[in-house]
Amino acid sequence: MLFKDISVIDHQGIAHSNMYLGTSADKIVWLDKSPPPAGYTCANDAEVYDGRDKVLLPGLYNMHCHVPMTLLRGYGEGLPLKRWLHEKIFPFEALLDADDMYWGTLLGVHEMLASGVVSFSDMYMRLEGIFRAVLESGIKANITNPFVGDENTDIYQDRSFEEIIELRRNCPSAAGRIIAEAGIHAEYSCSERIIRDVADWSKEENFILQVHLSETKAEHEECKVRNRNLTPAAYLNSLGFFDQPTVAAHGVYLEDSDLEILSDKGVTICHCPSSNLKLGSGIAPLAKFFQYNVAVTIGTDGASSNNNLNMLEEITLAALLAKGVNHDPSIMKTEDIMPLVTTNGARAQGRENCGKIEVGAQADLFVMDLNRAHMKPVYDLPANVFHSGQSADVVLTMVDGKVVYRDGLAAGIDLERVLYEVDRIKAEKLKILG
Ligand SMILES: [Zn+2]
Repeated sequence: MLFKDISVIDHQGIAHSNMYLGTSADKIVWLDKSPPPAGYTCANDAEVYDGRDKVLLPGLYNMHCHVPMTLLRGYGEGLPLKRWLHEKIFPFEALLDADDMYWGTLLGVHEMLASGVVSFSDMYMRLEGIFRAVLESGIKANITNPFVGDENTDIYQDRSFEEIIELRRNCPSAAGRIIAEAGIHAEYSCSERIIRDVADWSKEENFILQVHLSETKAEHEECKVRNRNLTPAAYLNSLGFFDQPTVAAHGVYLEDSDLEILSDKGVTICHCPSSNLKLGSGIAPLAKFFQYNVAVTIGTDGASSNNNLNMLEEITLAALLAKGVNHDPSIMKTEDIMPLVTTNGARAQGRENCGKIEVGAQADLFVMDLNRAHMKPVYDLPANVFHSGQSADVVLTMVDGKVVYRDGLAAGIDLERVLYEVDRIKAEKLKILG
């Protein structure tokens, strides 16, 4: 495909006008002010895409999600966290089979592709359904079923273990798009035995890890009471958990000493501002993360605590919160934002050559239409994208050189059928739950 006469914002947040970007197979092969010469790979039989009044960006990484929770969007609203989980979420989730996960994942992936997401990190269960949906949709994903349990839990006999092993066996059919990971749900939902065993197993098998970390004040403080005054980060570190590359979601209550540990160990934080606000958890100290040189990414979390998977909205909110909380309009400029949602995500997912707009990189990108009332005039293109733009302005998303979303429809997803199935699942489960 040859994008002609298009504006480009690269992974460093720098805008370039009137560019030609060519892709061939799964790579970006041309990026220049002038068109490729006749006979060049991306000039032969390529679809030429008219880029006037459009902007092309590197595809976004949604680094914390529970994608099939789209099925629970808006279910049990307004309850305090514990009651919400025990009275609503857990009983509903217990009824979900792999087929339900498949439809819920397709719904969520459609929503993500429509906001420029090319890859996401996910924690959920019945992974075979999630795998099938991700495979068909064309998006990339790093997926795990996180361990949960007490001292009696033997991870090697656990369903999570079986599902991760099976997922990893199936991954080669996704040609690198899907990566199996390991992880624990959180410090408070796992015994010391589980944490040690998952850390050991991950080292043997070289898994990337996912975990929820210091999301709420109660969780953070209760950990100290239980574990010799150690914070969740210090406690997990003492058990060797951070010896493997890890993505830690939330980090709202991380202390200075925690940030030193995470920086030292190269742990990536995933900042989920909507979810933290909606559940009343608080606001993560983004400026401190930067100050301690911790790698930061951004995530939507699941649809039942957000309530959408719109990454563009998440980015705007992250920027606004950081500016407001720090009384500093210069923080979270586009140059600061772009690495968080592109290269930092790709690195944390172990994806080489991804997250960049440059020749030789994987062709993972999206295009927004500037010809909209809220997008004109353009003085500062990145500002329009992140402070005026909406996901409805996304007109094309490409993963590994394939157009997976265009003008409202995802190529690998039958949206009409998905909407029907999701309504069916809702009605069926509500009938059982009463
Ligand atoms: Zn989560």
